[in-house]
Amino acid sequence: MSKVFDFIDEYLKVLNDTYGMLKEKTDNLNKELDVSCYKCGNCCKDIRFAVSITEILNIYRYIYNNFTWEDINSVLLKANEYNNSISKALQEKRISEKDLVEGKIKFNETTNSLKLPCFFLKDNKCSIYEARPFICRCFGYSIYLQKKKYIVS
Ligand code: SF4
Repeated sequence: MSKVFDFIDEYLKVLNDTYGMLKEKTDNLNKELDVSCYKCGNCCKDIRFAVSITEILNIYRYIYNNFTWEDINSVLLKANEYNNSISKALQEKRISEKDLVEGKIKFNETTNSLKLPCFFLKDNKCSIYEARPFICRCFGYSIYLQKKKYIVS
């Protein structure tokens, strides 16, 4: 497995460099605007966001290097539980997975009543903090696309 990670390491380096630049920007903004995190964990208690394939690989590598089998098992059990809740919500709303995959229905619209905490939230802390995705790193700021570039403000 580690050979696979060697192969994608260069690729993931670009992602982690981008995370570094983002951290610099949000740290500066937090200082400038006097924004503090109260570590309540509320931003992780209702997750309905998209994560890119590259970020999933990064999280996968982090889990491979840092999680115990017990941790992995607990995440898989929660993921399975969520999968069942989402399937049930889709059935109740008579939405086909095909419509969802094809983007005819927005994922948010099907799950807004579920309030699912992130399965990486453990004891009110992010258990993959170093590998958390872009959206979590920007929480509290708005992100928009301008001339094919993402702007964090
Ligand atoms: S990945 Fe971490 S920071 Fe992001 S929602 Fe999950 S627990 Fe919160």
